[in-house]
Amino acid sequence: MTTKNAYWFLFYNDDLLIKEEQGITTILTTSDLTTVQLQPTNAQCIGKLHEMECYVATLDSESIPVGFSFKKIRQLYGNMEEECFWFACRAFHITNWMRTSKFCGCCGSTMTVSTDELAMKCVQCGHIVYPRISPAIIVAVIKDNQILLARSNRFPPNRYSVIAGFVEPGESLEDCVQRELKEEVGVEVHSISYFGNQPWPFPDSLMIAFTAQCSTEEITIDNQEIVDAGWFSAHNLPDIPDKLSVARKLIDWFVENHQHNPA
Ligand SMILES: [Zn+2]
Repeated sequence: MTTKNAYWFLFYNDDLLIKEEQGITTILTTSDLTTVQLQPTNAQCIGKLHEMECYVATLDSESIPVGFSFKKIRQLYGNMEEECFWFACRAFHITNWMRTSKFCGCCGSTMTVSTDELAMKCVQCGHIVYPRISPAIIVAVIKDNQILLARSNRFPPNRYSVIAGFVEPGESLEDCVQRELKEEVGVEVHSISYFGNQPWPFPDSLMIAFTAQCSTEEITIDNQEIVDAGWFSAHNLPDIPDKLSVARKLIDWFVENHQHNPA
């Protein structure tokens, strides 16, 4: 363990240990670890935040000292400095990857953390694996001042959002946008434009967001993943995702640009 003061992102399963003082949520530092005598395992340096080194590590027990608590990563959004929140997302992604990469996919032997790069290496055959990042597209489809929103069977009741899906091997991002829209809601689009992107470590995605114009009138839902879909004006939105998600940023963009137009 380093003796310098550093940030420690300590996980017990999916939960991050944080410190709460006078209503302010912060990440633990090396001095906190010393004070409470916590002994994390599998420590891995994952970069620097505020000029301090950052370590991700795991705890074997969920028993915690007074003044500390475990939180789900998504609960921390809006409750801590944004830069710190996104670093916690990086730590969460890496700890999940390390936990699910304990054995070599080639020979079944034990993997160990590489000392010179962010990778796990097989002690037997030398096979190296890097953190898995799964690209996924997400798209705001617009037609006549309305946005296409759909309900997945995985959503909370009454929640609607924009269409999203994982990129398949050999596929460009634009091909993926066209395929997902065709499969899930049966529409065809043109004028696909890049909007932005956002890491989404639940568990390992990178969301790449687009806007597109629709050339199909009718929606035909797939009835498997999508249970309902429709066109919504800026004045007539259903329940939508929270501000953390890039889905919400796309919907907010739509509202900003279409709220003065008739539906
Ligand atoms: Zn191996």
